[in-house]
Amino acid sequence: MAIDFTLSPDLEEIRDRVRIFVTEVIKPAEARIEGRDGDAPLEGGDRLAELIGLRKQARSAGLWLPHMPEKWGGMELGHVAMAMVQAEAAKSTYGPWVLNCQAPDEGNMHTLLHWATDEQKESYLRPLCEGRVWSCFAMTEPDVAGSDPTLIQTHAYQDGEEWVINGHKWFISNAHRASFAILIARTEDDPELPQAANTAFIVDLPSDGWTEVRQIETMHGSTGHSEILIENLRLHDSKMLGGRGQGHLLGQYRLGPARLAHCMRWIAQAEIALDMMVDRALKRYSHGSVLAEKQGIQWMIADSAMELYQSKLMVLHAASKIDRGDDFKSEVSMAKHFVANSLNRIVDRAIQVHGALGYSTDTPLAHMFQHARWARFADGADEIHQMRIAQRTIAAYKDHGSTASATGDLPI
Ligand SMILES: Cc1cc2nc3c(=O)[nH]c(=O)nc-3n(C[C@H](O)[C@H](O)[C@H](O)COP(=O)(O)OP(=O)(O)OC[C@H]3O[C@@H](n4cnc5c(N)ncnc54)[C@H](O)[C@@H]3O)c2cc1C
Repeated sequence: MAIDFTLSPDLEEIRDRVRIFVTEVIKPAEARIEGRDGDAPLEGGDRLAELIGLRKQARSAGLWLPHMPEKWGGMELGHVAMAMVQAEAAKSTYGPWVLNCQAPDEGNMHTLLHWATDEQKESYLRPLCEGRVWSCFAMTEPDVAGSDPTLIQTHAYQDGEEWVINGHKWFISNAHRASFAILIARTEDDPELPQAANTAFIVDLPSDGWTEVRQIETMHGSTGHSEILIENLRLHDSKMLGGRGQGHLLGQYRLGPARLAHCMRWIAQAEIALDMMVDRALKRYSHGSVLAEKQGIQWMIADSAMELYQSKLMVLHAASKIDRGDDFKSEVSMAKHFVANSLNRIVDRAIQVHGALGYSTDTPLAHMFQHARWARFADGADEIHQMRIAQRTIAAYKDHGSTASATGDLPI
C-alpha cells in the first residue's frame, strides 16, 4: 500500500500554472469587475467582455475543461488531480467559470458524457465544452422536499412521439441564461421502486411552456437561481436523457462527483478565511499583545487548521476512491458534510477575529459567509448525509461484525 501525497511533476506543473493564472490574471480582473481597483464596477457588455477575455486566455494557456477527456477539448484530469485544480481555481469567485469547470455545467458535462446519445452529445455537450452556452439542472420543487426526489410532482405523459410536461421548479441555478436544461420529471405512476418513477429530459431554452417566474432573492442577493413554471411543455422522445425511469439514478450519478467538486472549491474558500484570520491576528494589537498571542484566538486558529487538514484528507481520499472505481458514496457524503460545516465554522471564526471589519463588506468575509450557508443543505442536507452514513455504518456492522469498512475502509 502506498500513501504518497506528493504530486507527480506533471500535476505539480499544472497546479502551479493554475495558481499563477489565478493570481496574475483572474484576481486583477476580479478587482476590475467588482470595482475594487478604484474604478466603478464593470456592468453589462463591459463585464461580459472582461469575463469572455479571461476564458480565451485560459484556453490559450491550456487551462480549459480540466475535468473532461481530451477528445472533448479537456485536460483529462482525474478527481484527485481535479482537487488541486479546483482548490486553486476557487481562490477567485470567477476561477472555476474561467476554466469552464463550474457548477452546474461541470456536473452536466459528466452527466451528458455518460448518459447522452451521440446525437445529444453533439447538440448539447459539444457547445458546453466549447464554452459557447450555459446549462442548468432542474430537479428541486417548492411544494415537496427536495431532499426526497421520489416526491417529485413535475409530471410527464406521453402523447404519440412527444412528452407533455407540467410542473413547478425552483432554485434552478443558471436557468435565466442557460441554452438548455436537464429536467427531472415523473413519468411512471406506479413504479416497482419509488426510485424508478422519474425520467430525465433535455429542454432547449427558451421553449414554449417553460416560464421563468422570477430570480429568487437569497441571503447573498439575486444571483441567478430561478423559479420556473412548466405548462404543457412538449418534448420529442429524442429529448429523453437516459432511459425511462432512470432519472433518479442519473441524479445520483451526477451528484456524487459534483458534491466532491463543491468540497474542493470550499477548501479554497476556507483556506482564504484561515489566511485572513492569521494575518489579522498577527497585526491587531489589544491588551498588551497582538491577537495571535492570545490563547482564545490560538484555539480558533488551531481548530480551523485541524478542520482544514481533515477536509483536505477527506476530499483526497474520496477523490482517489472515485478514480480507482471503488464505491465512494459514504466517503463523499462524509466529506460533503464535514467540509461544508468546516467552511461555515472557519469563515465565522475569521469574521470574529476581524471584529467589526469582518462584519463589513470591506473584506470578502461577509460575502463568503453568506455563500457558505447554503453548503449545509444544497446537494444533500447535512441530516440526509448523516442518515445515509449511519445506515451504511449500521449495515457494515450487521454484515461484518465491525464498522471498519464504513469509516473510509482504511487499513487502520
Ligand atoms: C444556492 C442554491 C442553489 C441551488 N441550485 C439548484 C439547482 O441548480 N437545481 C436544483 O434542482 N436544485 C438546486 N438547489 C436546491 C437544493 O438542492 C435543495 O435546497 C436541497 O436539495 C434541499 O431541498 P429543500 O430545499 O426542498 O429542503 P427540504 O428537503 O425541504 O429539507 C429542509 C430541511 O429539512 C431537513 N430534512 C429533510 N429531510 C430530512 C430527513 N429525511 N431527515 C432529517 N432531516 C431532514 C434538513 O435539515 C433540510 O435542510 C439549490 C439550492 C440553493 C440554496
